[in-house]
Amino acid sequence: MTELLQNFVGGRWQAGAGAGTALIDPVLGSELVRVDSSGIDLARAFEFAREQGGGALRAMSYRQRAAMLAEAGKLLQAGRDTYYEIATANSATVRNDSAIDIDGGIYTLSTYAKLGDGLGERSFLLDGEAARLGKDPLFQSQHVLVPTRGLALFINAFNFPSWGLWEKAAPALLSGVPVIVKPATATAWLTQRMVKDVVDAGILPPGALSIVCGSSAGLLDPLLPFDVVSFTGSAQTAAVIRSHPAVVRHSVRVNIEADSLNSALLMPGESAGSESFELLCKEAAREMTQKAGQKCTAIRRIFVPEAAYAAAAEAISARLAKTSVGNPRNETVRMGALVSRAQLAAVREGLHVLKSEADVLHDGATHALIDADPAVACCIGPTLLGSRTPDRAERVHDTEVFGPVATLLAYRDEAHALAMIRRGQGSLVVSLFGGDAPRAAAAAITLAEAHGRVHVVTPDVASQHTGHGNVMPQSLHGGPGRAGGGEELGGLRALNFYHRRAAVQASTAVLAALSPT
Ligand code: NAP
Repeated sequence: MTELLQNFVGGRWQAGAGAGTALIDPVLGSELVRVDSSGIDLARAFEFAREQGGGALRAMSYRQRAAMLAEAGKLLQAGRDTYYEIATANSATVRNDSAIDIDGGIYTLSTYAKLGDGLGERSFLLDGEAARLGKDPLFQSQHVLVPTRGLALFINAFNFPSWGLWEKAAPALLSGVPVIVKPATATAWLTQRMVKDVVDAGILPPGALSIVCGSSAGLLDPLLPFDVVSFTGSAQTAAVIRSHPAVVRHSVRVNIEADSLNSALLMPGESAGSESFELLCKEAAREMTQKAGQKCTAIRRIFVPEAAYAAAAEAISARLAKTSVGNPRNETVRMGALVSRAQLAAVREGLHVLKSEADVLHDGATHALIDADPAVACCIGPTLLGSRTPDRAERVHDTEVFGPVATLLAYRDEAHALAMIRRGQGSLVVSLFGGDAPRAAAAAITLAEAHGRVHVVTPDVASQHTGHGNVMPQSLHGGPGRAGGGEELGGLRALNFYHRRAAVQASTAVLAALSPT
């Protein structure tokens, strides 16, 4: 039997009562470890986190909590080799793709350590300026932000077991709010190992960071009014969480990061062969193949002017054809596997749906697998689909295939392109490629309403831009509508979710006493 990973709740490591669910190597099909959370007293675990963890965290200043984040970042940095090994085995990612998750998580943690240090020795924040409430300036209103006295429950997706934890835990812990994380079962190993390393090093006070690995059964039942839930995953599970009785009864604050039909747009006026055209083709191929397309921010729809359609099809396909697919342990492999046979089946099914209204421009089935048995491995080559008549398409605008798949779409003019992009019903990110800065700025503002992030690539930032799908802690992550309506990161804005805003109405003398000296 493989190792049964333990849960850390109530300040101690606890094994589940059952035999557990096996985590599988997606390339070799072998069992790696098991997880189980049955028999865990969740109500007690939540209470411990709120009382012990929350109490200890709130007794510290932002700067003290930031110092803990910095220490955790250093510790994780030292453990990178182990984390890469786990990622190779459990997520089947090539080294560069593992880095996005592992190093991206550590970078986010250290970014919040620096931001938190800047907040100093305070225990609450002022929100804006004081405002007069009447003619006489004596009585005014000052908004304050104070850490919520509940816990933060994170329910995460399988594709970012490291970054998914730290991008949420960093602002929560910095805010003084204890964390309970429930990673997706398929890839829970890396999350569990990182939590274990930080917990065992004694960096955080007891109850500040807990982990439940395994089934989500009963997980939301013990939630109370001041708790918050941050969920990343499918829109379907998001709907279950939003409507859970405990969430509804107690008005529990919920943040949702769900699926998204992100777009890339080659701006009007850019012809085939222009620098912007080349940048778009490069980025589209990269986004399709990075982490085998299992990124919520990946480009799913690529919009180009009608005149550039054929050339774009050729250029992106040529890049995809060079992508070697298979076992990430082989150094010639550029793209690893999907996470499970279930995901492989879902991607094949999604492809079937999209093919009903799009042509196949590059067929992933033409890729021979390297060091991987197609009967066992969850590998699939990248597929580019295409349509010159996107108005007639429906599925292309509403079906997220969570794998190395995107659709090239031809547009007539800018208004047509922007209207097609909006058919995604709200997305995490859109990227614009063009050399006309004022025109790109105007399109960015038009698209901002339906996107959490607009990534503009003009030729001057060709070697500087951070990538369409790369989520930077300085920028907002989240999107309206079908993307879930959530907001994460964005520098110190992330702290809002873990704080309660209140207006203090008082004399100027009282309000002055709130300000830092
Ligand atoms: P999922 O099936 O919705 O699962 C997400 C998480 O929810 C897992 O931890 C899962 O646990 C848990 N869960 C499942 N049913 C639950 C329930 N009834 N109550 C509470 N928790 C429950 O999503 P996934 O397949 O892991 O992830 C892929 C999806 O996530 C894609 O659609 C992708 O677009 C989206 N995603 C979005 C973002 C973003 O930031 N916007 C990032 C990454 C992924 P188990 O694993 O134990 O079932």
